[in-house]
Amino acid sequence: MAEPEPTPESEAALVQAREWGIHTIPVPTPFAVGRINCYLIEGDPLTLIDAGPRSEKSMQGLEEGVEAAGYKLEDIELVVATHQHIDHIGQIHSVVERSGADVAAIDLVVGRLARFAWGSEQEDQLAVDLMVRYGVPEDIANVLKEVTASFRELGAPVEVNRPFAAGEKITMGSRSYETFHRPGHSPSDTVFWDEERKLMFGGDHLLSHISSNPLISRSLDGSEERTRSLINYRESLRQTAAMPVEIMLSGHGLAITDHAELIEKRIAGQDRRTEKIFGLVAEGHSSPHGIANAIWGDIALTQAYLTLSEVIGHLDILLADGRVVENEGEKYSTFEVVS
Ligand SMILES: [Zn+2]
Repeated sequence: MAEPEPTPESEAALVQAREWGIHTIPVPTPFAVGRINCYLIEGDPLTLIDAGPRSEKSMQGLEEGVEAAGYKLEDIELVVATHQHIDHIGQIHSVVERSGADVAAIDLVVGRLARFAWGSEQEDQLAVDLMVRYGVPEDIANVLKEVTASFRELGAPVEVNRPFAAGEKITMGSRSYETFHRPGHSPSDTVFWDEERKLMFGGDHLLSHISSNPLISRSLDGSEERTRSLINYRESLRQTAAMPVEIMLSGHGLAITDHAELIEKRIAGQDRRTEKIFGLVAEGHSSPHGIANAIWGDIALTQAYLTLSEVIGHLDILLADGRVVENEGEKYSTFEVVS
C-alpha cells in the first residue's frame, strides 16, 4: 500500500511535536499496512512508543531514527505498547535486551504479551473456527492459518514490568499522560492523553488514510469468548470524538488534526456498510463468507479473516438491534432477517 501524502496540517503537527521533543520514527514492516510510526519522547524517562516487528530491516529503521534524534537504542529507558499487534510489539523484546528499558502496557494485556506464542496460536485457532463456522472453505482456512503462523517469527514474548490500569497516569519523557482503554481495533488498544497540550498518542485506534479494521480476536479476560469488535470500536470512537484532541499521533500514516470529523466519517461509512449487509441478508445471502464474497469478490478469499471479521462485526450490530437472527447449526451458522 502506498504511504499517504503529507498535508500541510499533518506536517505542522509533526513540527509541533518535534518542538515538544517527540520524534516520529517510521519503521518498515512486511505487512500491507506499510510502515509503523514509533515515537521517541525526550526527557525522563526517554520513552519509545511501540517498537515495530522483529526483523533486521525494522531494527535498522528504528536504530536510524533513534540516532537521527541524537540518541542510541541503548539509551531508551521505557518502552510503551499501544496494543498487542505484532507490528507494534514484535521488537520490544530486542529493544529491552539492548537497553534494559522498562516496559509499560495496559494491565489486561500483560498475560497475552508474556505468552506470545501461545496467544498467537489461540488467536489463529479462533480465526480458523470462525472461518469454518461462517462459511470459508476448510482447506482455505487451514492454509491461512499456516500463513499467519509463519508471521510468528516477527514477534517475541514481552515482559511488562510497568503495567497500568486504564485511567491511571504514566510519565513518558517528563510529562504525565492519562491512559484510556479504547478496545475495537484490538481488545487492548490504549491511547495516551496530554490534556494541556491536547495531544494524544492513538496507536491504531484511528488512522488518517484507512479505516482501522476491527479484527475479531479472543477476549483478554481469559474466557473463550470472541470480541464484539465493531460494537466496541464504535463506542470507543465516540468517546475519543468527545475529547478536545488537537494532534493525534497514530501508529500508521499521518498525524491527525481533525479527529472528530474523521471519526464522523468513519462511523458514517460503517453505517452504510451495515445497511448494505442487511440488504444482502434480506436478498438471501445467509452465510457471512458469502456476504464477504458478494462485497469483495476474490479478496474475500485472499483476505478471508479480515473480510469475515468485518462482516461479523456488522452482523453483531444487526443482531444487537434485533434486525437479524443467527441460526446456529452444529457446524455452520447462517443468518436471516427478522420479519
Ligand atoms: Zn494494530
